[in-house]
Amino acid sequence: MMRKLERPKGRYAIFGDIHSNLPALEAVVADARARGCDRFACVGDIVGYNAHPCECVDLVRSLNAVTVKGNHDEYCAGDVDLEGFHPLAADVAAWTRRQLRPEQIEYLRSLPLEAQVDGFTIVHATLDTPAKWGYVFDRFEAEQSFVYQKTTVCFFGHTHVPLAFEKTSEVRFGLYNRIQIALGRRYFINVGSVGQPRDGDPRAAYVTYDLETGVVELHRLEYDIEAAQRAILEAGLPERLAQRLALGR
Ligand code: ZN
Repeated sequence: MMRKLERPKGRYAIFGDIHSNLPALEAVVADARARGCDRFACVGDIVGYNAHPCECVDLVRSLNAVTVKGNHDEYCAGDVDLEGFHPLAADVAAWTRRQLRPEQIEYLRSLPLEAQVDGFTIVHATLDTPAKWGYVFDRFEAEQSFVYQKTTVCFFGHTHVPLAFEKTSEVRFGLYNRIQIALGRRYFINVGSVGQPRDGDPRAAYVTYDLETGVVELHRLEYDIEAAQRAILEAGLPERLAQRLALGR
């Protein structure tokens, strides 16, 4: 009998842009576990915008998730001057800094900009200039990142819009639900946002990646948006941040 080609086993849940939204993160973790995910990877932006920064940092760490740094993790934990920022983001970053415990700030500061995980890569923004936090919305921007991609698959975040880019001799892209990874190609896949989706669909987003079958699936989940909104208002954060959760914008 022919021996089957050995592929690594395991199922990952890959998620990011949580932005301190605990009800959304809890829904994602519960769904991922129910789908048999035993490993986790996080593409960054654990904090910012919503009202549960400490709880979200603790939960991500409790999953032993391989995690990369997002721009909001840097703003909220670093010594970056917040002047010149969008006022909404600057206010929340200043508030978040006051909530985080010193060891949580240390943790966020220690995160790498990109990481290799079981044969795939994760990064928050782009692989070509990860510290510049560029946005990948079209194939020209994806093309720049592909130059530096050494693995077949790379997952990313930052735009809060789940688009997938596939490179053969050219780059094609679009929205997706399910992707069968094929060898000889490259994939740059945005996992959407757990805590502040911006594609018009307010449901939390994350992906599962089955290493054995090579299947990537996008999942969208209802969660308790009202609880997240109440927490924002109770914390005295801008009302606009609560409103946008219901719109997915
Ligand atoms: Zn983000």
